[in-house]
Amino acid sequence: MKITLIPGDGIGPEVTNSARKIIDASGANIQWEVVEAGASVLEEHDSPLPDNVIDSIKKNKIALKGPITTPVGKGFRSVNVQLRQKLNLYANVRPVKSFDGLPSLHSNVDFIIVRENTEGLYAGIEHNIGEIAAESIRVITKEASDRISKFAFELAKNENRAKVTATHKANILKLSDGLFLKCAKECSSLYKDIEFEDIIVDAMSMKLVQSPQNYDVVVAPNLYGDILSDMGAGLVGGLGLIPGANIGDEAAVFEPVHGSAPDIAGKNIANPTATILSGIMLLKYIGEKDAAEKIETALLKIFKEGKYLTPDLGGNLSTEEFTNEVIRTLN
Ligand code: ATP
Repeated sequence: MKITLIPGDGIGPEVTNSARKIIDASGANIQWEVVEAGASVLEEHDSPLPDNVIDSIKKNKIALKGPITTPVGKGFRSVNVQLRQKLNLYANVRPVKSFDGLPSLHSNVDFIIVRENTEGLYAGIEHNIGEIAAESIRVITKEASDRISKFAFELAKNENRAKVTATHKANILKLSDGLFLKCAKECSSLYKDIEFEDIIVDAMSMKLVQSPQNYDVVVAPNLYGDILSDMGAGLVGGLGLIPGANIGDEAAVFEPVHGSAPDIAGKNIANPTATILSGIMLLKYIGEKDAAEKIETALLKIFKEGKYLTPDLGGNLSTEEFTNEVIRTLN
């Protein structure tokens, strides 16, 4: 099967190269179609997201993507957000899981954040009011809220999860988050076997830090989902460990939650685990179950042993050495 591979910026090429090598060594039947996006192609194509990238994903339906830098305050719009909007990848799925043997604030953590991926504060509608103010418009629609709620409940059903928690700020944002909450509640009535609760996002932040084991599937509007997933990373050992999938009806793009980490780019010290785990999600999604399980088993073994780790987890292996260790453990 042909899969689009977007190496990305910063540590992107290092971590995607690692995941690619491991997936190739797992025996999965995959051919990679490499296309470039981000700052490096801006000059040549007059856009950080050239048409050939979108065309490749539309054709292959599945992509593995490295992080792409978004300039702060000025410059081009986030390529990540554009990609999600152009391909209507409406569900961002981010599993937060602790691993035996790794340094982590909590053990036995295993919840999935389902983040609405196309609207909310990421609608990208902003304007200045002269020089004295600026406004950003946060859009919440019934269509997107119904769709993401259904996605979260279906995921809970398919993964045998007991509970869906909707998080929001409907006490203050009575109309927009009120609509999101109403849609989630209505959807819950169709899934009698799955418990439903809703929690205001600030309280949710505290509860996740205190007792993350209480959560199964958390469904959230765009910005809350983004913030809570970085928090989730902090609970279980850092950004190097959290994978993600952007899923729509026509395509799916798998990518780590972390950004391009310019501070460690090119140093061969980035932890590729988040991208490898994104690759495992990809393999499961396309039905390459054996290859996915093989890689997962190898990672669990390495983490449990706790000897072969990258510097972010207290080890001293380079990205490349860690990759080779995973490949060695596969066989
Ligand atoms: P963005 O806004 O693009 O999401 P960010 O501000 O969240 O980016 P990241 O680039 O995700 O920042 O990472 C924050 C810091 O976490 C990095 O500067 C780096 O030190 C560390 N980090 C992130 N990913 C990794 C990784 N895979 N391996 C090791 N350290 C990482």
